[in-house]
Amino acid sequence: MTSYGRSKMKLALGHNAAIKEQNLKVILNVIREAGLISRAEISRQTGLSRSTVSELVGFLLRQGIIEEAGTGDSIGGRRPILIKIRSKGRVICAIHLDDDGTLEGRAEDLAGAEINTATDKVREADELVPGILRMIEKLTNGYTNQPAALALALPGIVSPEGTILSAVNLGWSNVSVVQPLTERLGIPIKAENATGLAAYGEMSARDLAVHNLVYLRIGRVVGAGVIANNRLHHGLRGSAAEIGHMVLDIHGERCKCGRRGCLETKVSRRAALALLHHYQGTLPPGLSIENVFEYLVEGDRFDNPVAQKVLTEIARSTATAVVNVLNVLGPDVVVIESVLCDSRTYWTVLIETAAEEALPFAEGKYQLVASSLGKEAVIVGAIAYATRLFYDNSQIATIGL
Ligand SMILES: [Zn+2]
Repeated sequence: MTSYGRSKMKLALGHNAAIKEQNLKVILNVIREAGLISRAEISRQTGLSRSTVSELVGFLLRQGIIEEAGTGDSIGGRRPILIKIRSKGRVICAIHLDDDGTLEGRAEDLAGAEINTATDKVREADELVPGILRMIEKLTNGYTNQPAALALALPGIVSPEGTILSAVNLGWSNVSVVQPLTERLGIPIKAENATGLAAYGEMSARDLAVHNLVYLRIGRVVGAGVIANNRLHHGLRGSAAEIGHMVLDIHGERCKCGRRGCLETKVSRRAALALLHHYQGTLPPGLSIENVFEYLVEGDRFDNPVAQKVLTEIARSTATAVVNVLNVLGPDVVVIESVLCDSRTYWTVLIETAAEEALPFAEGKYQLVASSLGKEAVIVGAIAYATRLFYDNSQIATIGL
């Protein structure tokens, strides 16, 4: 590619660091698949220019991610130096603390190959940092170095400094997490709310053309995450993305936030149970908040009219919220994660109502999709986030291309 072509591409995409990061991953994958490979061969397989490959390989060597390993056969000139992924090299770590105290961890190399996973459980707030340190030991087992970067997916409200300000289900408040870990490990560490990282995971699972995404998780509560220009959007003190408390009906049911008619009062599991009770007069034995969505999805499969009525109402409320989000944020993609997405009635009414209500400029231009990652989205997002954190801290943007 000529330098003119490259600078045009930069201008068109406008995400220089993202392109370099993508090229690094492509190169790492080629090296991993080949086992041993020369710079010239990487250039041939990736279509990247020799000077680009040379600079990116230099970066990976300096970071201790790959290593030189002897020379290959000459094809006329000098014998080429071969490169391989450094054995026991640096790894990316992600740890998710669920709102019941479960810790789930995953370690990957920078090309995205899974290396280790681990689970643990903590009960008290002061067990958290030691628990995370233990988990990192398990995740990096067999690897000599500290992790290259660590991302933490935490429940509740997380401050920019990485303190859990409040996690209602755990009954914790003001738990400092990132600061003590940084003091101990001295590596790039960042914590985010788990739902925000789920949004990041859904984003990383899509192509590079998607820069703005809204993620809505509908269950016991309504959680959300907003990605704006490839970054998690936090807003004032992390207050952004409270889409569950978007008011749809000022005369509606009282919400736990104190106001009336929030989205959560219309689409949560509790709301579904109340609607079912309202339309049916009674509730089947054994039915509860825990299984009402599953009951409705099953009922829809057998064309149960009451189930379909409830699903239609929930879908319409979801659609109104989605359209409000489209009008305010203009995302490329809205992702819905919910058991409800398995219901044909719910999904059809949601898509149709959103299409009817959307302003003409948004019509047909956004994507409204069910989550492709499900519950995996959090840990996938945390790994992608840690990878980005590593590259951000590696001054990747200063590599001249
Ligand atoms: Zn509310």
